[in-house]
Amino acid sequence: MHEHHEACHIIEHGEEEAKRLGKSRVTKIKLVIGENSGFDPEAVKMNIELASEGTMCEDAEVEVRYVRTMLKCPDCGEMFPRKPFHYECPHCGTEGVPTDIGKEMGIDGFECE
Ligand SMILES: [Zn+2]
Repeated sequence: MHEHHEACHIIEHGEEEAKRLGKSRVTKIKLVIGENSGFDPEAVKMNIELASEGTMCEDAEVEVRYVRTMLKCPDCGEMFPRKPFHYECPHCGTEGVPTDIGKEMGIDGFECE
């Protein structure tokens, strides 16, 4: 249930942001979630919906920018998205190594009114 914990954290940030701007509510929550972050975007959205009830984030639209896992070829340096069961570089066929792209989990911004 780490999605629930993360959802509460995001909502707290949203309320802080709305207060900082002198607004009364958060209308949109923008997130960035990597394929390899261990977070399920749908579960995060659902938890935000549930946990935001009665907060300034209630009824806010949740927009997720989903980041595919990228691998890097150690041989030719090509960056390429990981495909299921395929780790080979499309350029030279060498097995790719993981990068930090795809591990993102964070807030991309809020819209308030
Ligand atoms: Zn390569």
